[in-house]
Amino acid sequence: MTLTELYTHYKNPLNAKQKQLVAEAFEFAKNAHAGQKRKTGEDYFEHSVQTAAILAEIGMRSRTTAAALLHDVPEDTEFTLEDIRKKFGGEIAELVDGITKLGKFKLRGDKKEVQLENLRKIFLAMAEDIRVVLIKLADRLHNMRTLHALPPEKKERIARETMEIYAPIANRLGIGEIKGELEDLAFKYLEPENYDLAKGLLDKEFKERKKDLEIAIRELKEELKKSNIKVIDIHGRAKQIYRFFLKLKKHEMNVNRVYDVVAVRIVVPEIPDCYEALGIVHKKYRPLVGRIKDYISLPKPNGYRSIHTTVFGPKGKFLEIQIRTSRMHDEAEFGIAAHWIYSGPKTWRDYFLRRYTPEEIPEQELAWVKQLREWQKDLGTDNLEFVQGLKIDFFQNHIFAFTPKGDIINLPEDATPIDFAYAVHTEIGNRTIGAKVDGKLVSLDSKIKNGQVVEILTSKDPKNPNQDWLRLVKTSNAKSKIRQQLRRAGISIGAI
Ligand code: MN
Repeated sequence: MTLTELYTHYKNPLNAKQKQLVAEAFEFAKNAHAGQKRKTGEDYFEHSVQTAAILAEIGMRSRTTAAALLHDVPEDTEFTLEDIRKKFGGEIAELVDGITKLGKFKLRGDKKEVQLENLRKIFLAMAEDIRVVLIKLADRLHNMRTLHALPPEKKERIARETMEIYAPIANRLGIGEIKGELEDLAFKYLEPENYDLAKGLLDKEFKERKKDLEIAIRELKEELKKSNIKVIDIHGRAKQIYRFFLKLKKHEMNVNRVYDVVAVRIVVPEIPDCYEALGIVHKKYRPLVGRIKDYISLPKPNGYRSIHTTVFGPKGKFLEIQIRTSRMHDEAEFGIAAHWIYSGPKTWRDYFLRRYTPEEIPEQELAWVKQLREWQKDLGTDNLEFVQGLKIDFFQNHIFAFTPKGDIINLPEDATPIDFAYAVHTEIGNRTIGAKVDGKLVSLDSKIKNGQVVEILTSKDPKNPNQDWLRLVKTSNAKSKIRQQLRRAGISIGAI
C-alpha cells in the first residue's frame, strides 16, 4: 500500500500537519523494514501499513496510526525505541513501547495462568493508554488475515489466543467491526468444518432472503419519508458467521429458529427519531411479541445502543429491524475509537452535519480512560465504584483484588486471603497472621470477591505457614509455596 492509498483509509481526512507526521513515520518504518519479508512473501512493511489502515478506518488519527506504522520497528529492525523517541517524540515512543511490551505475552498450550497473565497485562496496558490496545487489536487483525501462511501449530495457537483474548477485548471496547472479523477468522482455523457448515447455510439463507430485504428497505423508506423522518442510511446486514453458528447451536441447528440471520438497519439523526421510526415500522409490519429490545434506554454492558425488533416482514416472514442514530452506529462499529470522533469540542451533531474541520477533532483520551486513572489513584477509598465503573464482565471465573496501595492481584474465584498473600510475595504468605478485607478483619478461609481491597497482617518475625492452609488455598502457587516452606522447616506434611 502506498502512502497516498493509506491517506484514503482515514474516516475523516487528515490536515497537512497530520499528513506530514504519517508520511514521516511511513518513510521511517519502510526504510527500517527494508528487505524484510513475511511468511506470505509480502514485504514486512506491508503489515505495518495495513495495521495503520485498519486503525484509520475505525476513526483513529495521525499519532495512533504513526505509532502503528512504527509498531514492529524496535523489535524487528536495527532501529531502537530511542531512535523513535528522538525522531517522533515521547508520546509516539510510549505507544510503540507499549505495543512491544504487550507483544511479549503469548498464550501457550492451555496453561490458564499464562492466559490470565496475558489478560492482566492487556488490562493494565488499557488503563495506561487505551490506544496501545487498539493498535494491538489492529495488528492482530492483520495477522489473522494472513494466518494461512503460518505452520499449523502456530495457526492453532494464534487463533485460540484471538478467540479467547483479543475478540473479547474488542467486544469489551465495543468495536463490533474488529470483534466480528477476529471471531470469524479464528473460528475458521479452530473449527474448519463448523465454519464451512455455518458459512454455507448463511450464504444460502442470505441469497434467499435478499429479495425480502430489498422489498422491506424500499417499503420502509417510503413510510419513513411520508412521516418526515430523515433517514441517514438504511441497509441490510447479514449475521457474522461465528455468531450465527452459536445461535444455530442454541436452536438445535434449526435455521428457521434464528430470527436475525438478516436484518434491516435504519440509521436516523437523533434519539427521538429512533422511537418515531419504531412506531412507523410497527405500523407497517406487525411486531413479534416479546422481541422488542430497547438497548437505547438500557444499553448492553459494552455500551451498545440500538432498538431491535422482530417483525412479520414482506410475505409474512420474520425480519429483524435495528434502529439507531449515526452516533450509535459509529459506536457499535468502532466502539471506543468512535469516542475520538465525538470527544471534540463540537457535538456529534456537528460531526454528522460535517460542520467541522479536521483540526477540530482532537486525538485525545477518552473521558472514561481519564476517569479510570483517577479511580485508580484513590482506589483505597472507593474501590467498589472503580470496579463497577469498569464492569469487568469478561473476566469471568477470576477476580481482581487490590493491595492497599492499589496493585492489582489476579486470582481465581473463591480464592482466600492466603492465596492473595502468596500472590503478593512468598514471604508475606509465610508470615500471614490475619487479613482485612475492605478494612474489616476476616478469617483466613473467607472468600475474596472481585474488587475488594485486601490487607495482609504479618508477623514481624519469620514464621512458618500452618499446614491446614493447604486445605484452604485455591491456587497451586500458594500450595506449592506452603509445601516448600514446610519442607524447608522440616515439618512433615500430613495426609493432605
Ligand atoms: Mn505486528
